[in-house]
Amino acid sequence: MAGSGVETGTALKGLDAESRQMVIDTVRQLRERLLTKEIISEFDKKEIFPEETIRKMLGPEIGLQLLFIPEAYGGMGGGALDCCAVTREMSRICLGIATAFFAIQLGSDPLVVGGTEEQKSKWLGAIAEGKALVAYAVTEPNAGSNVAALTTKADSVRNEAGEITGYQINGTKQFISTGAYADFITLLAKTPEGPTFFVVEKEAKGFDHGKDEEKHGIRASSTSPLSFTDVFVPAQNLIGGIPGKGLAQSNKVFGYTRLMVGAMALGASDAAMEIVISYAKERIQFGSPLSEKQGYTHKLIVPNMVRLEAATAYIEEIAKRLDAGEQDLQIEGSIAKLFATESANKTADDAMQALGGYGYINEFEVEKIKRDVKITCIYEGTSEIQQNIISTFRWKKTRKTKGEYYNSIALEMETLNRTLKDAGCRFYQLAANALNEIITLAHENRLTRKQYIMFALADMITHLEIGVSLARKASKLTEAQSAEAEKITLMSKIFSNEASQLMMQNVPKILMGSGVFDEKKISDFIKAISYYQLLGSFHHLIGDMDRVADIIFER
Ligand SMILES: Cc1cc2nc3c(=O)[nH]c(=O)nc-3n(C[C@H](O)[C@H](O)[C@H](O)COP(=O)(O)OP(=O)(O)OC[C@H]3O[C@@H](n4cnc5c(N)ncnc54)[C@H](O)[C@@H]3O)c2cc1C
Repeated sequence: MAGSGVETGTALKGLDAESRQMVIDTVRQLRERLLTKEIISEFDKKEIFPEETIRKMLGPEIGLQLLFIPEAYGGMGGGALDCCAVTREMSRICLGIATAFFAIQLGSDPLVVGGTEEQKSKWLGAIAEGKALVAYAVTEPNAGSNVAALTTKADSVRNEAGEITGYQINGTKQFISTGAYADFITLLAKTPEGPTFFVVEKEAKGFDHGKDEEKHGIRASSTSPLSFTDVFVPAQNLIGGIPGKGLAQSNKVFGYTRLMVGAMALGASDAAMEIVISYAKERIQFGSPLSEKQGYTHKLIVPNMVRLEAATAYIEEIAKRLDAGEQDLQIEGSIAKLFATESANKTADDAMQALGGYGYINEFEVEKIKRDVKITCIYEGTSEIQQNIISTFRWKKTRKTKGEYYNSIALEMETLNRTLKDAGCRFYQLAANALNEIITLAHENRLTRKQYIMFALADMITHLEIGVSLARKASKLTEAQSAEAEKITLMSKIFSNEASQLMMQNVPKILMGSGVFDEKKISDFIKAISYYQLLGSFHHLIGDMDRVADIIFER
């Protein structure tokens, strides 16, 4: 499947729109009592992990964790679309709180995908009942991005008959969210069969935690090192009952968990943009509101709003595909995370700038959001790790499908361009064709061994696939005669220029920067991919941005 979305009428896992909205409204209400602006600011300033508040969010009155627990174990059985929407809403309030909440979900994932029935009913049941804070303990001092380098080990303990009765765990974990407070953790440790997840309960003898790290942002979350000295866990705590399945279990959920981190980043940047947009309407400088100054809006606001919409379209599309039962969407998870988190980080930075001096003052919140959002580019796999994954696997896919993967996207965009003239589909089509060619060129000339070239490919791939989702969304909204159609269509066109600019920059980076092609080869290649036609994406760009600014600022 080239990624053309989910057929209308496909049964999707998860809540109906009304129930999803009810959960979102429950999160919004937290602002009135448990998570007011003042309370959040206090958590941030004093670096307080609000254990009691989080436990209340899991308690019988609120029960937010029920969203991600399958119905069979007492939850609501929400899907990826539901979880992304709700987590995004929570991240609008505070990314630190959302991180603590996400840690519970992340910690429960090895059980959801790999646990035995007994394990699921015991531990997922405990989470559903609101009795458990959970942590996910994978990272170690010398095993961060490279999880396979982990040294925490689990040695089997046998009885007199030689049967395995349990495991003895020794080692250290680092940077574990909620690790110091969790009632149980899911821990990845080495066994002779390979990395394996175990449940370790808080009371286990020899399991200890160090002091909380002092952090740049998400200061309402707790991050600490954990140590394990001859910690005994019974054999029933080995997730799935068979050792060596840990990496497969964690890989299985990356499509989903990385999508969630993308949604969290978007929530934080939504909050920043909301503050800035209302400020810019009121703030008068040189006799008129900032929102009427074209340089201000087209530098600091419009491009960010376009990227946030593009990321939203992509995350929604992939979430629906997950909810329709597609399994192997890890690369899509990487694309979503890379683009949404980097865009959110840039948005928060521009939002600070857009508030002038107030942006630098703690009371105006954007300064906190800027500090918070950076972590989304780091945890659950850094941006560079996502670039590695995206370029490697899309290169392989391009080869395996003999170019059909991007050909079909190009064809889809060509077809869409006939009915949806102004969404930039023509440029997505050109970019998809060019991508096919440049990946093939890199492959044939062994340039795929150069990581910097692979990163350049990853960025082009990401922009194209994200932009195509936005064009699809524009088409659906136009068909449905939605009030949003004009805005999303314009944004798709503006984003097609951003994707084209990246192609125009990265293709020469590879062609000329690699130093392996002569002038004739370079000029033939430039011609073959219709490079100069990408320039057409600049047509009427400023007018389109003016119109988007009109819509954003209700001018
Ligand atoms: C606040 C916070 C909360 C966290 N919560 C958790 C948690 O709950 N559970 C958990 O298990 N972990 C958690 N982590 C750990 C987090 O996932 C890791 O920090 C992250 O994956 C990066 O690992 P590292 O810090 O060891 O950096 P490294 O892997 O050492 O990376 C350092 C730099 O090198 C780059 N790099 C690494 N490898 C390559 C490569 N092959 N090619 C090019 N560049 C490369 C990275 O992108 C990065 O820029 C948390 C971290 C923080 C800061």
